[in-house]
Amino acid sequence: MHGPLQRLRDLEVATRPEHPDLVRALARRWEELPAHVKTPNQMLGRRTAGCEGTHGVFPRCNLACTPCYHAKEANRVRTDGDHTETEVDRQMAFLRRQRGPGQNAQLIGGEVTLLSPDDHARALQAMIRHGRKPMSMTHGDFDYDYLEALALDPATGEPRFEHLSFAGHFDSMMFGRRGIKRVKTEAELNPHRRRFCEMFQRLEREHGVKHYLAHNITVTPRNIDEVPQLIRDCRDMGFRMFSFQPAAFVGNTNRWKDAYREFSSDEVWERIQEGAGARLHPDAVLIGDQRCNRTAYGMYVGDRYATLLDEDDPRDARVLEDFVRAFGGMDFVAPPAIVAARFARAIARHPQMLASGLPWIRRLVARAGGVRAMRADPPRAITYVMHSFMDAKDVRPAWEGLQRGELSDDPQIRATQERLQACSYAMAHPESGTLVPACAQHSVLDPQENLRLTELLPMDPAAA
Ligand code: SF4
Repeated sequence: MHGPLQRLRDLEVATRPEHPDLVRALARRWEELPAHVKTPNQMLGRRTAGCEGTHGVFPRCNLACTPCYHAKEANRVRTDGDHTETEVDRQMAFLRRQRGPGQNAQLIGGEVTLLSPDDHARALQAMIRHGRKPMSMTHGDFDYDYLEALALDPATGEPRFEHLSFAGHFDSMMFGRRGIKRVKTEAELNPHRRRFCEMFQRLEREHGVKHYLAHNITVTPRNIDEVPQLIRDCRDMGFRMFSFQPAAFVGNTNRWKDAYREFSSDEVWERIQEGAGARLHPDAVLIGDQRCNRTAYGMYVGDRYATLLDEDDPRDARVLEDFVRAFGGMDFVAPPAIVAARFARAIARHPQMLASGLPWIRRLVARAGGVRAMRADPPRAITYVMHSFMDAKDVRPAWEGLQRGELSDDPQIRATQERLQACSYAMAHPESGTLVPACAQHSVLDPQENLRLTELLPMDPAAA
């Protein structure tokens, strides 16, 4: 098909609520999911195929953390822009084929800002080219000059990205940050968290490049009691997501310092809720297995946090179901005319969305304190997430069993297998045609992969 007919066909596909490749990928993901997570509020396989992350692209990091999820060989691998771009391109092309367009993907490994700004930009562009929505994962210890050089095309001085997403990992178990090598409390890092947000705000002011910022933190017995104050201190800095990762025994064993299993996930979640200043509703929406992920969506109007969906209100459960029926995996990030056309087609296929959606908007406004409050203090959307990685000692036998098609009789290993099957965070292995949960990547595959990379990219290029 050529010319106007092809353009018409392209337009018809672009204005569908969901791209046909995504429809197929979601159906496949739903089919693969274990029965225990196939609930009406499950988003995997219905709204998203899951998050994605890169691996083996730049394993080295220049900070030290306890724990560190990277294999101990990681710091013997040279950061190399060409290798990064080639690998990212290969992995993202595979993800596009397997999972369709419009999925969130993390540019993750060691420290992303050890790449030059241009190499970092090339990696992001490769991800975008393959229909991913990239997020760069960093320790946040870089300067505005770096961010500006990343955002702007060196030839024209114009922005090469309209939007940048970054997750900054800040916690008191990290060592070697410039200006504050070692910290005792989370509060000591607050100026660094603020500075991170301010760099992106300046970039937007000076060049119009918008941003989405997430804050990541590892939670251990040392800092769990500081979580509530951390949230209170940082929730107005500019982060749109706070993600808490209870520490797991994964990666470099030399960096395992505490009894990480001293507290439960529930205890971490209680501290998050205390800091959020409101009851959170993680049962309203599930992404994979709740033992892995809890997610609470909402917005602040002043100090009041209004949950997007009330997990106790069946009308909110209904609106979620209608939303998924109407919109499915629809990508709302597109030119306004395309979004409007997709929206109209989505409502046409499930008009019930309007009947449940409009009253829901009224309930949400009431929860936020009413229209007047929202006018006086525009809502700030903030998402709270807890992602609980698993211990390598459980993941290895669980993963190896799954590879053989065997489900374990051991309750702990069986639970690990159930979570791996419902994983919402995968890494691409085009060479074997497989997608691997990040837990299995870090626990089982990373050590070998990094050993190979030490040969391919030795720290001293002369030794190559
Ligand atoms: S299996 Fe591991 S990587 Fe996947 S969602 Fe669960 S904790 Fe995360």
